[in-house]
Amino acid sequence: MKRAEKPVVGLTSDTHDAVHILRCNLGGASFFLQKKSYFDAIAKSGGVPVLVPAFDNPSRTDDYLGLIDGLILTGGFFDIDPALYGEKPIKEMGPLKRARTNMEMRITRKALKLSMPILGICGGHQLINVVFGGTLYQDLQTQMGRRRLKHEQSRPSNRAVHRVQIAKGSRLHGLMGQREIKVNSTHHQAIKDVGKGLLVCARTGDGVIEAVESADDGPFLVGVQWHPELLLENDSPSRRLFAGFMRECRLRKIGSSRGNAR
Ligand code: MN
Repeated sequence: MKRAEKPVVGLTSDTHDAVHILRCNLGGASFFLQKKSYFDAIAKSGGVPVLVPAFDNPSRTDDYLGLIDGLILTGGFFDIDPALYGEKPIKEMGPLKRARTNMEMRITRKALKLSMPILGICGGHQLINVVFGGTLYQDLQTQMGRRRLKHEQSRPSNRAVHRVQIAKGSRLHGLMGQREIKVNSTHHQAIKDVGKGLLVCARTGDGVIEAVESADDGPFLVGVQWHPELLLENDSPSRRLFAGFMRECRLRKIGSSRGNAR
């Protein structure tokens, strides 16, 4: 494939300060960054990954929409402000990253309007639900009661730990070609009420929603609670998910180069 034909995929950035990342101050420097595994997964699937920064002024990210053919909403060690889904925080809620969440809410809404393919991973999957008016469990352990499965795994996160059942006939089912897969799990929150316009396409045996997709046949919109980018190496369902997303990004790129989209 010629380089020019590769779709460009935006990865939403995390925000950290130097003390957190490097254990030194660097004059109070802060960073826009994201895990290498996301970049690797996109590159291995035939795309060109670029980082979409979480500027304090979220409108500054709008320029990226003209550069990218698809968007991946990433996860991170933080929670979405429950005020955004009409709830007060409980004490088990994790840290918030307001600039990041504001940027991600805004770019997701804009990307949806542009019919851009979107893949949400972990926190990104939860964000899609909030954008569609859904709610989250702020802490599974506290709010969902006793469960059989451990959703914050202690094994390395590139190991699958629990099974998910995929809804028959869903887009995810079409991509995976199977009704059950084994995934990793590094989340303490999960979707509670599903946003209008979304369909639950995977659950665990203990009832936790593990994937959603658009309820219509519109542009690619899938959110997964697990981390396929960490499983990609040895897991064909993860490769198929990325390949399916990339196929849509490529189609969009071809369409836009002919002057159809954008
Ligand atoms: Mn899980």
